[in-house]
Amino acid sequence: MGVERRMPGTPETCRRCGQILTPGVVQYSLDRFAIPLCRKHQHYARNSTATKESLTLYGLLKEAGIPAQFEKFDGYKTIDIAIPALFLNIEVDGAHHRCNKRQIQTDRLRDEYSARRGFATFRVSNELVRGQARGIVDAIVRYASEKRLRRDFA
Ligand SMILES: [Zn+2]
Repeated sequence: MGVERRMPGTPETCRRCGQILTPGVVQYSLDRFAIPLCRKHQHYARNSTATKESLTLYGLLKEAGIPAQFEKFDGYKTIDIAIPALFLNIEVDGAHHRCNKRQIQTDRLRDEYSARRGFATFRVSNELVRGQARGIVDAIVRYASEKRLRRDFA
């Protein structure tokens, strides 16, 4: 529980599938995707619309012990980061989301779909993640603690 601690010499693993990674793959992945990923999941990350900020936030949430899922399809849309145990979806958006009428309407339909299924949607901007990623993670960890769901975490 809490921040993941690794013993010195423990091999790094893919944050998506747990596969043990070679140091070369780890370094390549950290340079490009900010979190350790195996080659398969690097390929997915490269071909997804996910931003580096989304991957960064996902990696920090996992390290904090939050059972987050990356790019989860809910039957209607792909959620950037889903935390089913908290009934919380996190969408990491570019600044254009705040400056485009059609995007506001699209987001509203998506959020209403989630709300009908009991999920709250927490929208953060890429800019906020770049400046305040730790603060966002801390807030979600506290939210999880208050919900008394931490004991159910995987
Ligand atoms: Zn993997």
